[in-house]
Amino acid sequence: MTVDLPATLAGVRVTEARTPGRPLVVIDPGHGGRDPGATGVAAGTREKELTLLVARELRDELARRGRVRVALTREGDASLELDRRADIARRLGADLFISLHADSAKDPQARGATVYSLSDVASDADAARLAAAQGAPGASVSSVADGSVRTLLADLAARDAMTGSADFAVRLLDRATGRVELRPEPHRFAAFRVLRRTEAPAVLFEMGYLSNAMDEAMLRDPGTRGRMVAALAQAVETELALARR
Ligand SMILES: [Zn+2]
Repeated sequence: MTVDLPATLAGVRVTEARTPGRPLVVIDPGHGGRDPGATGVAAGTREKELTLLVARELRDELARRGRVRVALTREGDASLELDRRADIARRLGADLFISLHADSAKDPQARGATVYSLSDVASDADAARLAAAQGAPGASVSSVADGSVRTLLADLAARDAMTGSADFAVRLLDRATGRVELRPEPHRFAAFRVLRRTEAPAVLFEMGYLSNAMDEAMLRDPGTRGRMVAALAQAVETELALARR
């Protein structure tokens, strides 16, 4: 079952849970439209198509399980600004936000998935470069700049979201270990713009490297993808069950 939303959220559908009033996860398929993202080294897989495919599979899996509500930031091949993606999550009152991506690196051996959670400091040069490519400004997130109560509250909310994001990343990796090919040190931190503006625990999940032929083949394989989607779905349910307590 889906519900219609106001015109400001045109094109966004919320898939309901089996019982009303359940928490909402917003899944963001990275890239789209004019922005194809990375391209697969062996089969020419386009990141924008892969992220949408996995987002739909994750939505369908969560809908089948029926415990949480789900929305996607885009349903088709649409160009969406980063702020618009975060805006959709905010307007819907998302309890959790997951942005899906696939990596690309100069080193063809680089492979495995990475979970990035929100931070005001990038964990390494790679994360900083990636955050910059995903629209983060060069400077770190500002703290209480003008001392106003409004800024202070926004700052506290951001800190809460940061802790929540890191906790969810740990939970997600816990579920993914043994089922998903992971990078060494798979939990990293970056000041992603799309994560900073969501006001809910938010992670960016890089599913693997399209610049690595084995990763690309695994991401194209429905069985491997199914195990990844199941791990994501379980992590989402665990997170949202905890969030409701
Ligand atoms: Zn990407």
